Amino acid sequence: MDDAIVSVTNVTRRFGVTLALAGVTLSLPRGGVYGLVGANGAGKTTFIRHVLGLLRAQEGSVRVFGLDPVADPVGVLSRVGYLSEDHDLPTWMRVDELLRYSRALHPAWDEAYAEELRRTFGLDTTARIATLSKGQKARLGLLVALAHRPELLVLDEPSSGLDPVVRRDILAAVMRTIAQEGRTVLFSSHLLDEVEQVADHVTMIHEGRIVLSTSLAQLRQAHAGASLDDIFVAHVGRRLPADA
Ligand code: ATP
Repeated sequence: MDDAIVSVTNVTRRFGVTLALAGVTLSLPRGGVYGLVGANGAGKTTFIRHVLGLLRAQEGSVRVFGLDPVADPVGVLSRVGYLSEDHDLPTWMRVDELLRYSRALHPAWDEAYAEELRRTFGLDTTARIATLSKGQKARLGLLVALAHRPELLVLDEPSSGLDPVVRRDILAAVMRTIAQEGRTVLFSSHLLDEVEQVADHVTMIHEGRIVLSTSLAQLRQAHAGASLDDIFVAHVGRRLPADA
């Protein structure tokens, strides 16, 4: 627990009458790829927003690198790369302007890596962000999240908007590299096969509650022969849609 990069303890969050998180406890040790999987509305984004300090825990506590992300946003966010679900980028900027701006914000920005990613992602520096396709925006958002080599990378539904090639080859490779370098990735998904392909550890969330959290290796050992889909059904009582 002490060595955890993210330590969420008994966090409950209500929006009016909606119980978005119900006593969630989850600890992420350093290094590794953690997949948070659940249906739409299960509480994934709400969980991530607590980790980033964008929401204050109504009950319970959140620590990231041992710090409270609400009380010390700079201390936490300077060490985190984040890609939001809707890739909210400043659409009035050009790609090169956003890269310069992001570099100024992040002292640890790695220019050579940023340029390598820009080429891999096929992004034109002079393009106005407003004119980019959804997939290009997702690639640009990912580049900005990665180029300062954060200790913790948080991706909310990273594959939404990404084409299958980027999804399968690039995204998976990026996550793997980060974990091999001893850094930590937390990503959310509603796709079990995606989680199965890239995560070391899977956490299933349903109606604001964590119903299962274990390493994929242990899961496979405990449920030999069963698919992640079957295991999800066993814990939640219904299937996740294959894609949405
Ligand atoms: P999705 O993939 O659809 O974003 P999710 O698993 O990320 O799903 P959340 O966005 O965390 O789910 O939402 C959990 C619940 O909390 C849902 O019932 C959602 O409608 C509700 N909720 C989330 N944010 C708010 C908000 N700002 N105001 C009111 N209700 C909210």
